[in-house]
Amino acid sequence: MAKKLYPVCARCTKAVCYPLLKSGEEPSIDDAPAFCPMKLMPDLIEKTITEYDRPEVKEFARLASVQEFECYETLPEGRRTKIPRVEELIQFAGKCGYKRLGIAFCTGLVNEARILTDVLERKGFEVVSVRCKVGAAPKEIIGIREEEKIRGPGWHETMCNPIAQAEVMNALEVDLAIMLGLCIGHDTLFIKYCRVPMTVLAVKDRVFGHNPLAALYLANSYYGRLMTKTGE
Ligand code: SF4
Repeated sequence: MAKKLYPVCARCTKAVCYPLLKSGEEPSIDDAPAFCPMKLMPDLIEKTITEYDRPEVKEFARLASVQEFECYETLPEGRRTKIPRVEELIQFAGKCGYKRLGIAFCTGLVNEARILTDVLERKGFEVVSVRCKVGAAPKEIIGIREEEKIRGPGWHETMCNPIAQAEVMNALEVDLAIMLGLCIGHDTLFIKYCRVPMTVLAVKDRVFGHNPLAALYLANSYYGRLMTKTGE
């Protein structure tokens, strides 16, 4: 039986979706690989384009693209980047007219949360923040056993409560919620429950200083164990 094809853009060498053409020239998907989502799901892709006809979506997408543009500068010697993500955040929030920002942070990044609060307040925003441990509920509530506590058996250990973090953001109707260093899974719950616009400043990586891509940059050298097949 033929194997069902799924989109695998990561393995595409054609990238006909990102051609080097002059304005007004029409890209063709004929040369796209068989696993291209434009070939596999053309109706779905087309429908997403019409979503940008909604004025508020179109304007938001426009501002995001303008922000993207402003992250580069073109000099005689070529194009280069000029804005780190934290400044991108400040500029984009300003473009959107946001006034109140909410930081949902991991307790392990409380220092970063304080600095970020200082930075954002100095740029004129009202800043609220909620630590992941809000609620002080013990991990037993979610079925964690004594031997699964980070502090060890016999200690109270507060569970992370990303649902509360999200609901505080929702209740205060912050213009933009900013995730700062939430763990994998906790961030998933935060995203699931957050109903205000949301972005990510940083994700948790306990080993690589919250830069998870460092593991990928080393995957063919010092961190080669990532490339071994499960079971080998
Ligand atoms: S959308 Fe199609 S052409 Fe573009 S990267 Fe994915 S597979 Fe390649």
